[in-house]
Parts: sequence; structure tokens; C-alpha cells
Amino acid sequence: MKKRVFIGKVILKDKILQKGMVEIEEGKISYVGRRKKVDKDSEVFYLEDFYISPGFIDIHIHGAYGRDFLNSSFKDMEEISYFLASKGVTSCLPTLATSSLPEMKKAISEIENYISSNVIKGTKFIGIHLEGPFLNPNYKGAQREDAILKPDLNILNELLSSHVRLITLAPELEGALELISYLSKKGVIISAGHTSALSHDMEKAINLGLSHITHLFNGMRPLHHREPGIIGVALVDDRLSVEIIADGYHLSNYILKLVTRIKPRDKVVLITDAIMAAGLSDGEYSLAGQKVLVKDGKATLESGSLAGSTLTMNRAIKNMVEKEIVSLVDAIYMASLSPAKVIGIDGRKGSLEASKDADLTILDESFNVKLTMVEGHIIYNAL
Ligand code: FE
Repeated sequence: MKKRVFIGKVILKDKILQKGMVEIEEGKISYVGRRKKVDKDSEVFYLEDFYISPGFIDIHIHGAYGRDFLNSSFKDMEEISYFLASKGVTSCLPTLATSSLPEMKKAISEIENYISSNVIKGTKFIGIHLEGPFLNPNYKGAQREDAILKPDLNILNELLSSHVRLITLAPELEGALELISYLSKKGVIISAGHTSALSHDMEKAINLGLSHITHLFNGMRPLHHREPGIIGVALVDDRLSVEIIADGYHLSNYILKLVTRIKPRDKVVLITDAIMAAGLSDGEYSLAGQKVLVKDGKATLESGSLAGSTLTMNRAIKNMVEKEIVSLVDAIYMASLSPAKVIGIDGRKGSLEASKDADLTILDESFNVKLTMVEGHIIYNAL
């Protein structure tokens, strides 16, 4: 296979190489550094005005383009996958909202089927995120209350498959701690979300292996100065990584600043939490069978509760940079290396480094995606 060489502004972990170069060979990155002489037979992309970024990784995404992972066919998944790649995402965890057990089980097996087929039509699915069903109904957000279940090891085992990488649950529920230690031994990442956990619930859960927080601030007990609860613990305990939704609706800019000033950047993960309406216009959609209204890109249930987002990862990064929350280098880091670390794939993905997978995204100055490469395959090209 021919070598491919990208010349442009290369976004590294700590700086931007203005006159940089990334060389790709056999699906892997073979060189990253200053621009140098290229081999005669390589295909060269001269992109001096563009950024060359590591591909983004979205660990909380329900669907896009009219499709929801809860009821997606193989073809639907190909389309979601392509859409996400067109927004710079090169890996993701398809995320299932809480639904009836048969529906969740069917969706899990469809996604597994897709993963095992090894097709690369877009973003790579590297596992599954289950958002529920063991959640606290008092903080259900847009999760279906009738499908929320009490923690139960047998039910958990019905849902677990080798591809389930992350589970969102409420650690304060009776029986949740038992599930946490079980999942921890299995190597599944455990995240607190849709929860009313108090500080001491969190301490117990963390000691048993809980390590992540699902969309911090959203769908959880609010911060209180005498009972800091999940949010207080999440902000100061660096064993915990946190997801944030930077769409301008879920979190105020002050809160985005608060989180990114307190937490180390490798513990802050940009997610989209996007639903089927992402990539489409305002109108009426659904989330796990519930009606969702989208107006000005804001998705809500009829009750007014936020129902995921219509965010794309390149826009999340744009918001973080243009609202001056963090630098471009850090925003990219939080969309690539931080999520890679959370799910334990940072040895092969998440940054532009020699020998890692050739997952990269070319961005213009306005954060429009111009080209996306997944494991050496050019999936999307708008150059
Ligand atoms: Fe979600």
C-alpha cells in the first residue's frame, strides 16, 4: 500500500506543530514531526492552512441522522457510522438509553454483529455503553421510567456481553455495590449517572471500582456545600473522569470553566450524547420510544426535560475553544486522548504518535471537518 503524507498544522498532546507532517503506512502512523522530505512514491496532501488532528472518540452517543442505536439495522449503523466520521469521530461507543430488556438485548446483539463484521464505512464501534437500566428514577432525565430496573445481577448478566465496555448506573441503589464489584472484576468501566448519590455512596463505589461520571451535572443530585454528593466528589477526586456536554444548553460556560479548571485534562471527556436528530433539522423525533422536540438544535421531552443533544464532536470542540474555556490543544485532547484513556485504548488510539492507528481528522480554522481517516482508510473527503 502506498504511503500517505499529510502536511499541515499538526495537533500534538502539548503543542501545535505549525509546519508539521504525519505519514501513514499500512493503517498505522509511521511518522509524526516536523515537515521533512517525502518519499517519491507517496501520496501527499498539502494542507498548510488546515489542522491535522487525532480522530475524535465519542463514548456517549445514542444515534444520529434519524437513527437510534436502540433499533438500528446493519444499514442504519453504517449510516450513523459514516455521519459521525463526517464530523471527525473515528471511534465511538454506541450508547443504549434505558429501554425494555428485550429491546436492549436485541440492540446489543445487532451492534455486536456490526462490530464483528469488521466493516469500516465510518467511525469504528469499539464497544457498547449501556446507559441504564439500573438508574435512579428521581433523576431519570429523558430515560424511560417504566424501563428502569432495580440492580440485579441476573439481569445484568443477561445484558453483559464481551462488547459492553461501559455501564452507567446509580451507585446509591440497593444492590448497586454488588454490581460494581462484579463489573470491576470483569473489566467493565463503571460510571455514575442518573443518580442521587451522596458523598459516602460515592466513596464506597469508587473503592469498589467506579471510575467515571456520566454527563457531570446533568441527571444527578445538585451540588450542596454541606452534602457535596456526586458532583463535589467528582470534581475533586482525580480517580474519577467526567463527561461533559459542551453544546451550550446542558452546561453554562461558567460550569465548563469550573470543571476544566479543577479537573486534570485527561479526566475531562467531551461527549455529544447525541440522539437521532443530530445532523437533521428541527422537528419531532424520538428517544427510546418517547417523543422528542428539537428547536434551535435543543432536544427536549414534552415535559421540558433535556433529551440528549444534537451536538457533533467538532462543534463541541469549537464551543470549548471559541467560548475560551480551554485551548485548542486541550479541547482536542479532551475529545481524543482523554476518552481513549477512559476506555483503555490509549495504547493504540487517541493521539498522533508513531505506531498508533491512523485515525485522523483534518479541520479548517472554523472547525469544519475536511477529511477523516479511520485506520488508514479515507472515509470522508471534502477537500
Ligand atoms: Fe445519554
